[in-house]
Amino acid sequence: MNERWDVVVIGAGPAGLAAVVAARDRGANACLVEREDRPGGILKQCIHDGFGLLRYQSRLTGPEYAHRELSQVRARQIPILTGVFLLAIRRDDRRFTLTLQCPRRGVFELTASSLVAATGCRERTARQVFIHGDRPAGVYPAGTAQRLLNIEGLLPGRRCVVLGSGDVGLIVARRLTLEGASVEGVYEIKPEPSGLDRNLAQCLDDFHIPLHLCATVSRIHGRGRVSGVTVCRVDNRLRPIADTARLVPCDTLIVSVGLIPENEILRGLGLEFDPRTGGPLVDQTLQTSLPGLFSCGNSLQVHDLVDHVSEGGEIAGAAAADHAAGRLPAIPAMPAVEVRAAGELRQVVPQRLNPALPGRVVLWFRARRTLEAAALTAGWAGKSAPIGEYASLRPPEMQRFTLEYSGEPDHLTLELREVSGDARENGVRAVPA
Ligand SMILES: Cc1cc2nc3c(=O)[nH]c(=O)nc-3n(C[C@H](O)[C@H](O)[C@H](O)COP(=O)(O)OP(=O)(O)OC[C@H]3O[C@@H](n4cnc5c(N)ncnc54)[C@H](O)[C@@H]3O)c2cc1C
Repeated sequence: MNERWDVVVIGAGPAGLAAVVAARDRGANACLVEREDRPGGILKQCIHDGFGLLRYQSRLTGPEYAHRELSQVRARQIPILTGVFLLAIRRDDRRFTLTLQCPRRGVFELTASSLVAATGCRERTARQVFIHGDRPAGVYPAGTAQRLLNIEGLLPGRRCVVLGSGDVGLIVARRLTLEGASVEGVYEIKPEPSGLDRNLAQCLDDFHIPLHLCATVSRIHGRGRVSGVTVCRVDNRLRPIADTARLVPCDTLIVSVGLIPENEILRGLGLEFDPRTGGPLVDQTLQTSLPGLFSCGNSLQVHDLVDHVSEGGEIAGAAAADHAAGRLPAIPAMPAVEVRAAGELRQVVPQRLNPALPGRVVLWFRARRTLEAAALTAGWAGKSAPIGEYASLRPPEMQRFTLEYSGEPDHLTLELREVSGDARENGVRAVPA
């Protein structure tokens, strides 16, 4: 096999699959590297539906969505190196050298002009949140429980408590119920849930699973196996209120307390990261501060919709091919044009714009808090323009919009502000995602 590639994509989840197809369609000699035995990433274990509403206008399951994306890769006969673990990346002489390992070939190297990192995210574990007590068997991150249920065919427990109201936890609560386990409740420390509205309705309300807000698990009980957890309410500084503590008997604690972009393999390369997203700082082509290295999917920022993941993969893959072919104008010097997040904006991606690339730019953002009605404006070079108006915004729901970038060498400030009650009554329009 050719050991010199124009583009190597790391990770064969939906981001990597879309990236490698886009790179090939731009004429690049491209391949995929995946550590698991099968491509598809997290989609393989998401047997519920709700994927592809935007990209395919269909309500697909995760494996169905992965199958459609994978068909595109196979139709182009793009090589997928599965069961291959990436050990190290070096950059020298304007090329990337990847040191990889697999049982069949041992340790080997590939080189690439461009690299796309599409390595997904990992779950925050029970050890990363403070809970007193022992660590008996029966404490699972939600994604691990989902994998046991949907891929291994194993029931993690019969009487379960879920800590955290992220989407993965909500979906697992429903799956456990469908498989005959009882879910005693979902406990969320914040005053509002972290998951999408549709998951709250379809996973909790439809199955009569109680959601307790401003509440947490403060202690795990049990020797050998979980026998119960202490739950209590928290005050407005998220501290447990001792006299509200009560014991909930259970044999399993499912922890769904957040996802962390997986970028450890890139840390040694000296690129800049965004503390708000946990992913690298990127420009509108999703190129990082290291020329030739692109980032997309959940390793760039945690997404809630796979459709946005695939779109980002396409942007990164096409640009990676352009970079390999010498068609992508070099970033003048990072930071190029800074995209500043103001007002109620928690995060914006991309965080930089390359002024040498005027044209249509796709941006994604999240609100800092729940807003009943909000307006987004862009300001640059003393000018300001409305971008959109939203009937409601919640932090779990990532929003996407596009703008025409003229290439002006100034910063761009995006400001999200709550619209007053009067303005709301005067008719605030919702802008489709
Ligand atoms: C439980 C759950 C439910 C969801 N439900 C929905 C839903 O209903 N609708 C919806 O639209 N979206 C949903 N999503 C969101 C969406 O599916 C994910 O955001 C999307 O799958 C992320 O794609 P990705 O390619 O970035 O990452 P992943 O799918 O995680 O893929 C990353 C791949 O990279 C590989 N990899 C990582 N490191 C290396 C390495 N060093 N070497 C080689 N390979 C590596 C991994 O093995 C993996 O295959 C859900 C997500 C989760 C977790």
